[in-house]
Amino acid sequence: HAPLADIDPQVHGAIGAELRRQQTTLEMIASENFAPLAVMEAQGSVLTNKYAEGYPGRRYYGGCEHVDVVEQLAIDRVTSLFGAAYANVQPHSGAQANAAVMFALLEHGDTILGLDLPHGGHLTHGMRLNYSGKQYRVEAYHVRPDDFRVDMAEVERLAEDHRPTLIIAGWSAYPAHLDFAEFRRIADRVGAYLMVDMAHFAGLVAAGLHPNPTPFADVVTTTTHKTLGGPRGGVILTNDPDLAKKFNSAVFPGLQGGPLEHVIAAKAVSFRVAASDDFRERQQRTLEGARIVADRLLGEDVRSAGISVLTGGTQVHLVLVDLRESELDGRTAEDRLHKIGITVNRNAVPFDPRPPMVSSGLRIGTAALATRGFGADEFVEVAEIIARTLVQAADNNSDAELSARVTALAQRFPIYEGR
Ligand code: PLP
Repeated sequence: HAPLADIDPQVHGAIGAELRRQQTTLEMIASENFAPLAVMEAQGSVLTNKYAEGYPGRRYYGGCEHVDVVEQLAIDRVTSLFGAAYANVQPHSGAQANAAVMFALLEHGDTILGLDLPHGGHLTHGMRLNYSGKQYRVEAYHVRPDDFRVDMAEVERLAEDHRPTLIIAGWSAYPAHLDFAEFRRIADRVGAYLMVDMAHFAGLVAAGLHPNPTPFADVVTTTTHKTLGGPRGGVILTNDPDLAKKFNSAVFPGLQGGPLEHVIAAKAVSFRVAASDDFRERQQRTLEGARIVADRLLGEDVRSAGISVLTGGTQVHLVLVDLRESELDGRTAEDRLHKIGITVNRNAVPFDPRPPMVSSGLRIGTAALATRGFGADEFVEVAEIIARTLVQAADNNSDAELSARVTALAQRFPIYEGR
């Protein structure tokens, strides 16, 4: 019964330091968010003790009556949130959800067609070193060099030439909506399954502020911790009863053993939150913030430093900064922002001349700051700080001023007070 501080001062200390980091800096990594205390309370509950292999009402362990309630709540809420008939809420992560879908639908050596990683795709969409790249034949589609939008003509051509079993629509770094109807048409033409991986934009979909892929796709996967703002985890959604059975069996016993019922409880809480008006309003501020950042980074002073914004703006919660024409590379830009207290990640941009560890891009997201309470005024201030940091040569005086402005914003919007 001893507290963590006594049992393990080292872990306790690191958690405390991470809490202070989150409280005192501005989190703008596009895949991150702040889970509500209620979500963390559920995740830190006694449900972590329970084995529950199987599904609600069909378990291989006794004593599952309460975790059955929790898992069924998660299923009912997430299907209602996204308008799907069936859900599997057990995948431990987004990567696990995608693996389960591929395991269910594909044989070793089948062809998949996904967005190339440097063009914004995810590792699990066919990257060479990922299981998806090792198990399957991968064809990758790209964005167009002129407007950086997905080249649907190329998708169609590759689909016709290579007859993939699975087409994947979804991204980790792409600032626009995808044309789900067009993906559906192409998939039907070549007899492929269509999977939409909405990990990044699920929160926007839940709020009705982004097209919903569920009516178009055979299967939709998502993480629960990005714009959706819940615990780390994955979900699989489908409207097809036969596919639903295949996905269930691919998750358990195919790929996983006991589900993390404490995480599933936290997912259930986050789905309830995501159905609220407050959540919708938060997603609106997320989108508004991203537009404000994009607009500021399209300003004359930023452009004259050779810096621009891919696609000339954003329709989602993130902005991709294009540094290909700038002396500043992605790593240096990330470091400079980190130094003044803004956390972002460097990111390869399409047609990037620099190596991936350096890269010529930054991915800047607004979901976490919107959760913190930021509105238009604060995003204007953050955008100004980012623009100034990127444009001016690093010098200690201006760093001190910018860093003080970051701290002031962080203090005005406290998070996890009293923890
Ligand atoms: N799919 C997409 C589009 C992602 O961006 C990510 C995470 O970055 C994942 C899947 C994988 O999620 P996880 O990190 O939970 O495995």
